[in-house]
Amino acid sequence: MSSTKKLPQRKCVGCQNSFHKRELIRIVKSEEGIFVDPTGKKNGRGAYICKKLDCLETAYKRKNLERSFKCKVDENVYQNLREELSRLEGKASN
Ligand SMILES: [Zn+2]
Repeated sequence: MSSTKKLPQRKCVGCQNSFHKRELIRIVKSEEGIFVDPTGKKNGRGAYICKKLDCLETAYKRKNLERSFKCKVDENVYQNLREELSRLEGKASN
């Protein structure tokens, strides 16, 4: 356990803690809108969030996603993100 190599870390828009990219879910803002990008490969501006609905609710309340994307985030975007995250959350606990 003496690895000195640092893996890239990203900050969760919810809890504001840094995690390895792999542990977070990428949210992307593209021309098609804002959505969860499980592959992390879609073009567009990205933000990262834990696979936790709690973090999404925090980001929602504090408007961190708006700040991150520098634009208004519609209510239905959050609804989609909630659905995606609850799916992922369910998968993780299985
Ligand atoms: Zn988080």
